[in-house]
Amino acid sequence: MKKILDIKNLTIDFNTYAGRIQAVRNISFSLYEGEILAIVGESGCGKTVTSKSIMRLLPEATAQVNNHSEIIFDGQNVLKLKGKELKKIRGDEIAMIFQDPMSALNPTMKVGHQVAESLLIHTKITKKQAFKEAVQMLKLVGLPMAEKRAHEYPNQYSGGMRQRAMIAIALACKPKILIADEPTTALDVTIQAQIMKLIKTLQADLNTAIILVTHDLGIVAGMADRIQVMYAGQIIERGVREELFYDPQHPYTWALLRSVPKVSQKSKSQLYSITGTPPDLLYPPKGCAFAERCEYCMPICRKDPPVETIISKTQSVNCWLQHKDAPKLNKPSGLKGVIHGQSL
Ligand code: SF4
Repeated sequence: MKKILDIKNLTIDFNTYAGRIQAVRNISFSLYEGEILAIVGESGCGKTVTSKSIMRLLPEATAQVNNHSEIIFDGQNVLKLKGKELKKIRGDEIAMIFQDPMSALNPTMKVGHQVAESLLIHTKITKKQAFKEAVQMLKLVGLPMAEKRAHEYPNQYSGGMRQRAMIAIALACKPKILIADEPTTALDVTIQAQIMKLIKTLQADLNTAIILVTHDLGIVAGMADRIQVMYAGQIIERGVREELFYDPQHPYTWALLRSVPKVSQKSKSQLYSITGTPPDLLYPPKGCAFAERCEYCMPICRKDPPVETIISKTQSVNCWLQHKDAPKLNKPSGLKGVIHGQSL
């Protein structure tokens, strides 16, 4: 598969009154044509900041991207683009769907015109043609009575319909990359499943590569080709879906998997939760960022940051436990098949 996005040494700080928050700490990864790459982790781990930086959507007044960072798309560093060049990539080549469609859609503009606007900015067609295509896009994303609905405003839509409209806007120009940041968080479970199925179908039809940002491992199990787990601004484990679900290597990934409810779980049994809180990224710890919460923590973990250990061609982990000199440990039981009902 062809590599279409290459992120190297991405480091992003936020200047706040309290000091400098190190939100993303020297991460590197690639995205390949037509794949779905999931970035998972709890709130504040840096996954949304990473995805917004690809679109250059971070607030310039407070966000500071380190000079050594690179986001290479189509042979050019997105971080260096300005004006027209940036506008061409944004929306045309790389598009994004957000968590909350209501705040992303323009409440004063008919939905059909909003989809058409995206086409008018990036292609040379007439307003009439653009509106016609917008209706086609709304049909493609499964909006019922698309011709009529195209003339309505976002407040006349249900939550699921708004999210479909957002997807239509994002995909109108057939981007090479779609970034979906928690695309179903605001929706109820049945609509969530429909939207995720829609994204997967469109991805297969249009061969769009997707970066799926989520904390929902159920969605990841059903959708992702590859997964990278983020914690405290760093990627701590990565691998293809089967590796991450059937042979995870990092205690944080184990804990994430254990905290997913199981169908076999007794109704009154307590759900597993990860004790403690992530570190304060104003002052990230010297060693492993997960050390305070890790039940396998060793003296070296607090002293030195764990180095990357390659597990296979596709899987790697940053944890001293997997280092060749670390003591051999049994992983907690009950990890295999922890996500029930998913097509693994
Ligand atoms: Fe736990 Fe140490 Fe691995 Fe960090 S490096 S996750 S503290 S075992």
